[in-house]
Amino acid sequence: MANPKRKHSKARTRKRRSQYYGSLDKPETMECPNCGNMKLRHRACPSCGHYRGRQVIEAEESL
Ligand SMILES: [Zn+2]
Repeated sequence: MANPKRKHSKARTRKRRSQYYGSLDKPETMECPNCGNMKLRHRACPSCGHYRGRQVIEAEESL
C-alpha cells in the first residue's frame, strides 16, 4: 500500500492552514436582493427562501 514515508511537521501543517483557514471564520455574505437580509453567497436566503430571483425553499416567516 502506498503510504507517506514521514508525517507532516507541525510547521508544514500550519503553513498550509495559513493559506486558507483564515477565510473560514468570515463566511462570504451578501444582501438578499429580494428581502435585503444578510445571507450566505450561493445559498438560498434563509428568511425569504429566494435564490437567483425565484423561490427555491419554503420561507420561514412569510406565509
Ligand atoms: Zn431574502
